[in-house]
Amino acid sequence: MKVGISVAEAQQIVLDACQVLGCETVASVDALGRVLAAPVISRRTLPPADCSAMDGYAVRVEDLSGASESAPVELFVVYEVAAGGKGERPLIAGEAARIFTGAPIPPGADTVVVQEDTSARGDKVEIRIVPQPGENIREAGEDIRRGDAVLEAGTLLGPAHLGVLASLGRSLVQVHQRPIVAILSGGDELVDPDGDAAGGRIVSSNTYSLAAQCREVGAEPINLGIARDSPEDLERLLRNGLRADFLVSSAGVSVGDHDYVRPVLEKLGCRLLFWGVLMKPGYPLAFGRFEQGEGPLVFGLPGNPVSAMVTFEQYIRPAIRKATGHSAWFRPVVRARLTETLTKKAGRLHFVRVQLAERNGRIEATSTGNQSSGVLRSMTLAHGLMVFPADATEMKAGAEVCVQVIDEQFFASTESGV
Ligand code: AMP
Ligand code: MG
Repeated sequence: MKVGISVAEAQQIVLDACQVLGCETVASVDALGRVLAAPVISRRTLPPADCSAMDGYAVRVEDLSGASESAPVELFVVYEVAAGGKGERPLIAGEAARIFTGAPIPPGADTVVVQEDTSARGDKVEIRIVPQPGENIREAGEDIRRGDAVLEAGTLLGPAHLGVLASLGRSLVQVHQRPIVAILSGGDELVDPDGDAAGGRIVSSNTYSLAAQCREVGAEPINLGIARDSPEDLERLLRNGLRADFLVSSAGVSVGDHDYVRPVLEKLGCRLLFWGVLMKPGYPLAFGRFEQGEGPLVFGLPGNPVSAMVTFEQYIRPAIRKATGHSAWFRPVVRARLTETLTKKAGRLHFVRVQLAERNGRIEATSTGNQSSGVLRSMTLAHGLMVFPADATEMKAGAEVCVQVIDEQFFASTESGV
């Protein structure tokens, strides 16, 4: 087991150990947020035929030469085509067809004149302009052609993707499975939110923040409950998580007298690959695995609420992204200008919780204040985690820094941009 490794090395070990999960078929209507497991090749051409983009008249350009406001040309309206309909027969000289948006262009017609440039006169129509050929016509296949690779494997399915799948007639879609993440909290001091918090007991907030982090990235959390600080209780509850894809415990992983997580994991057959990462918050992180396919990837997170969330961000979230078939595993990273000078000791990489703001077209990062790993409220304020590299001791006001964006609401605007 490695001890005291860098963040980058720890991320590498975790991601190397993580396999992409298999596929399942789901109803496209329920596939929002899922990741496509196989490319979608179209068996259809869309639109299937040239069709009208407007309500008006399908005509032959050659019939309209010289048409103008003062000298309109009159054509016979020989039939009507609505969306879903069909031209009855080819148009010949002097004929027009009434046409509506989405209707196929009848044979013989080569353009559509919009209703506003015409006047209906009984079974005839007066046309006051000379249109260009092809005007107001959506060409067959302008959206999608049969045989096009429309969506790549690894695509995160959003509303537009689901619309495209529907229009291709795919009511079912192959997506990657969602990992099951079993979450255990450990500590004699912990109670549930509606439990009695008297006498220095505290609520197991990690159960809630970690489960929500799982859901946010498309995994399914399962709550294993709260283990007492005894090896027996820990073992009993950890066993319930051995069928999950990821087993995540928080607390009891450090070097205190009541920290039994690591020995219990080893007793269960988990091989620890590392313990201790040169980061703050989050040093006492343990990671292990079972022999190929015989159990979950196991994360022993530190108990402090911020440490648990930040270590989830750095290791578990990217692993879940990999397992679910994404190709980009990390949060968006933006470059920002630091508004204040920050200092620390050399040795550990710090993830500084920061707020982001845009000023004069640049993004600025400002610390949320007290960076103690017990100040969970700082995570509610943070838009991002600023990387303060391990070896650095000072980052000056005005310096350009890298920030992992954890709250994309930062980009939400009070203005429409119009
Ligand atoms: P430990 O790693 O057991 O020493 O815990 C470190 C700190 O995190 C202690 O102050 C614990 O009370 C706190 N803590 C541990 N587990 C949780 C949890 N599930 N929710 C909130 N705080 C926790
Ligand atoms: Mg404890």
